[in-house]
Parts: sequence; structure tokens; C-alpha cells
Amino acid sequence: MIPSKRELRACSRCGKAVLWTVTRAGRYLLVDPKPDERGNQACFRKGPRSWESRSLDAADALPVAAWEHRFVPHVATCKPKPPPEPKPLPENVVPFPRRRR
Ligand SMILES: [Zn+2]
Repeated sequence: MIPSKRELRACSRCGKAVLWTVTRAGRYLLVDPKPDERGNQACFRKGPRSWESRSLDAADALPVAAWEHRFVPHVATCKPKPPPEPKPLPENVVPFPRRRR
């Protein structure tokens, strides 16, 4: 199963498209939108625009079921955008020196 574009949201930190899933504990977990064999999360579509995820790292985790796909948690690949460079000052403005110690 592959999430449709309508099911994806932009990550608030990096702006990339991510899939929101709900863990069995009822917590939100963002995963990368494409299934990946290296992922440790088994996810499936539970209902319209609703995905459930479970960790495969747990000692008692069951193997991936036929209706599930592996996904990578987005925190593993999220790279926040650097803050924008400050705008250069106009030529007629003298910068204040930084505070000295
Ligand atoms: Zn991100």
C-alpha cells in the first residue's frame, strides 16, 4: 500500500511531504511517504486518510503482514531548513558592533 498524495502533509520542520500515522498507543508518528525495506515501522491504511503504524523493533513484534508495508520514521531523515541569511544592510546604514565581552 502506498499513501496517496492527498494523505501526505508537509513536515513543519523541513517542509517535505510526510505521512501521519497513529501508533497503537494512540500517538502520532510521522513516516517518510514511500515504503522502504530499511524502515522499522509496519504501516497500513486503517480507513480513509488514516494510517496505523507499529514498531518492528520490539522483541515480541510480529513479522510484517501482507497488508502492511515498511516505512522509515521521518525523524530519521528530517533535516530542518537552516534559518534564512540576514538581509544585507542598505549602504547608508552602519552596523552596530556586536556586544563585546
Ligand atoms: Zn521533516
